[in-house]
Amino acid sequence: MDVRILVANDDGIYSPGIRALASAARRFGDVRIVAPDVEQSSMGHAITHARPLRIKRTPIEDFDSYRVNGTPADCVALGVDAWGGVDIVLSGINLGYNLGNAIWHSGTVAAAKQATLLGVRGVALSTPTGGAEPDFARLEPFVIEVLDLLLPDMSHQLVNVNLPPKPTGLFWARQSVQHYDGRVVPDEDPMGHKLFWISVRAVEEVEEGTDRWAVRNGLVALTPLRLDLTDHEALARASRQAPAAEREAAR
Ligand code: MN
Repeated sequence: MDVRILVANDDGIYSPGIRALASAARRFGDVRIVAPDVEQSSMGHAITHARPLRIKRTPIEDFDSYRVNGTPADCVALGVDAWGGVDIVLSGINLGYNLGNAIWHSGTVAAAKQATLLGVRGVALSTPTGGAEPDFARLEPFVIEVLDLLLPDMSHQLVNVNLPPKPTGLFWARQSVQHYDGRVVPDEDPMGHKLFWISVRAVEEVEEGTDRWAVRNGLVALTPLRLDLTDHEALARASRQAPAAEREAAR
């Protein structure tokens, strides 16, 4: 049986990024697209639990493709259930980087995470826009190189990939978590009512070895992620400091 590749995104099913990803993916196996009917960027890992979801066949070139009135994670949940035996979920290619702190908000990464929650491998792919549409033809050989590297190797369960506009190679990078400014910028609507914009500019310097550093140096950043958010160092420290009675109870 051929490899079953489910392609999702958070920019919506009509994004040029999802066509570019599906086109690169089809040389590795059977491709099916299941994606949101409208843009769901920055929706994070939200799932829809209080209203029914609808899935509709939608022609995208000659792909077997479907649109869902839900979040990126909903699309993966429905897609994995409906197809059955999905080997890997690819999410993207997002129009905009998902580096460092952006991973927390990203619907693109959430779609890949949702796959992992369901026991299916997940890969998220993103590239910046910078005014014009990304040059997907230029990116294609690197997308293929990434898939060629990740698909056969089962040790890669969840990987976040960011492609600079003109890549020169691949680089395994850590997440540049850090902080962002989080400025709330006031504005006004035509009726004189207050509006606000939230700014998410990173505040720390770019550290060597991080995803941000890699793309700045023209390298495709590959960052393995995990679902376990436990701070294992803090846990070990707290456990050592816990009163003896507590340690006894935990035995
Ligand atoms: Mn997006």
